[in-house]
Amino acid sequence: MARIAFIGLGNMGGPMAGNLAKAGHTVTGFDLSPAALDAARARGVSVAADVAEAVKDAEVVITMLPSGKHVVAATQGLFAAAPKGTLFIDSSTIDVASARVFHEAGKTAGHETVDAPVSGGVGGAEAGTLTFMCGGAPETFAKAEPLLVLMGKKIVHCGDAGAGQAAKICNNMILGISMIGVCEAFVLGEKLGLSHQALYDVASTSSGQCWSLTSYCPVPGPLPASPANRGYAPGFAAALMLKDLKLSQEAAGQAGAATALGAAASDLYAAFEADGNAGKDFSGIIEWIRTRAG
Ligand code: NAD
Repeated sequence: MARIAFIGLGNMGGPMAGNLAKAGHTVTGFDLSPAALDAARARGVSVAADVAEAVKDAEVVITMLPSGKHVVAATQGLFAAAPKGTLFIDSSTIDVASARVFHEAGKTAGHETVDAPVSGGVGGAEAGTLTFMCGGAPETFAKAEPLLVLMGKKIVHCGDAGAGQAAKICNNMILGISMIGVCEAFVLGEKLGLSHQALYDVASTSSGQCWSLTSYCPVPGPLPASPANRGYAPGFAAALMLKDLKLSQEAAGQAGAATALGAAASDLYAAFEADGNAGKDFSGIIEWIRTRAG
């Protein structure tokens, strides 16, 4: 059993750390929020007074923090305080450039590093069914994988340093674009007198089929479990979708990739958020599109 330090015990990190503790590992956690520390304690995680205490005997350090700047800042102290040769796994969703800084700084400090962002949301974190997208050396990935399987059901090694973050933002750019496409089709269908169910029955078995339609339908009715049936309570909040779309656009700019639809999706989610919808599920953008129609 490994000695694991878990830094960032929020909505995702708390249940992930809990699943590692449940599997019998010794998990010591740290978070800046006292409420997050209390919740983690209830999940079987020991709580440290600061990051140095959390990592002093660690064999593995997992970070689950809000953004690239948090990861780069927090890992400076973590790399210095952890024993040499510690395996660092960063599961936060961050920009590819910060992920590469994380890898470089870790290597310079004598550690091994993997970027391993996730998809699957809070429900997946609770159930231990996340998808992990990993970047790093194959031998380092091989050391991380036995721990990741305790928190996820699908673990993919995507390539070298930063490849996990690259896969995550490419996937979520598809998701943002496809959700807007599905919403626009339902709003157009309404204007043309088509029922939601009729459009769903056709598109779900035709070439318009996609996850946004058949797993997360943005209108109430066809899929009773989708957030549309509960007033667009998240789910996956619009603010998080906008964060990932912005990361995709930052990466596209740096890499010189043409992503016209990614840029349009990013602008639309930015406008949706500016109108007070940051906390709504991202499929709720259909209501906003409807008000702009015609
Ligand atoms: P969250 O805000 O609930 O948790 C982040 C935690 O990090 C907070 O508890 C905060 O106090 C803590 N923190 C910040 N700086 C710290 C520091 N220096 N030291 C210790 N703790 C610190 O966010 P979340 O929903 O758990 O998301 C975490 C990451 O996972 C983000 O990068 C997010 O984009 C990604 N993600 C979230 C979801 C989701 O559905 N919530 C899904 C996939 C990926």
